[in-house]
Amino acid sequence: MTTQSIAGPFQPGHNHKACVRDAMNIAEQLCQSKDLRLTKIRKRVLELVWAGHEPATAYQLLKKLRAEKENAEPPTVYRALDFLVEHNLVHRIESLNAFIGCDHPESEHVSQFLICSHCNQVAELDDSVTINHAVSEEAKRLGFKVSNQTVEIMGLCAACQ
Ligand SMILES: [Zn+2]
Ligand SMILES: [Zn+2]
Ligand SMILES: [Zn+2]
Repeated sequence: MTTQSIAGPFQPGHNHKACVRDAMNIAEQLCQSKDLRLTKIRKRVLELVWAGHEPATAYQLLKKLRAEKENAEPPTVYRALDFLVEHNLVHRIESLNAFIGCDHPESEHVSQFLICSHCNQVAELDDSVTINHAVSEEAKRLGFKVSNQTVEIMGLCAACQ
C-alpha cells in the first residue's frame, strides 16, 4: 500500500516491526472488506509467516504452532495456509516449498521474487506488471497458453555480497 516501496527486506534501515504491523493491518482490513474470516489460527499462521522475510515451510510453521499449542495438527496449518495463499496474504515460493508474506494482497497480482541464497531472505518485486506483460506477450506470440507463472530469481542481496 503506502510503505511497500521502503519496506523491502533488502533496503537499508528496514523497519520490520512496522512492516509486520502494516501487513497485519492490511490483512484485517482486506478480510473485513471481503467478508472473509481471519480466524485466530489463520491470523497466527500469518503472523508466524511474517516473523521474517525468510520463507517459512509448513513444517516450520507447524513446529512453532505446536510450541504454543500442543494439539496443532498438520491439516490445521495446511488449511490456514491455503486460505492465506488463496487471498494473496502469503505467496508460496515454489523452489523452496515455503511461504512468504505479501504486503499488497489487496491487488490481484502475479509475483516475482528475489531470493538471497545466503541469508534466505526474499523480496517481492514491486513492479510485476512489466515483466508479466513481457512474458504473456512472448507466450502469445508462440501460441503458448500460460497456466502458471513462477519467476524466482536467486542471488545475493546487497548486505550479503
Ligand atoms: Zn519486514
Ligand atoms: Zn504479493
Ligand atoms: Zn542476503
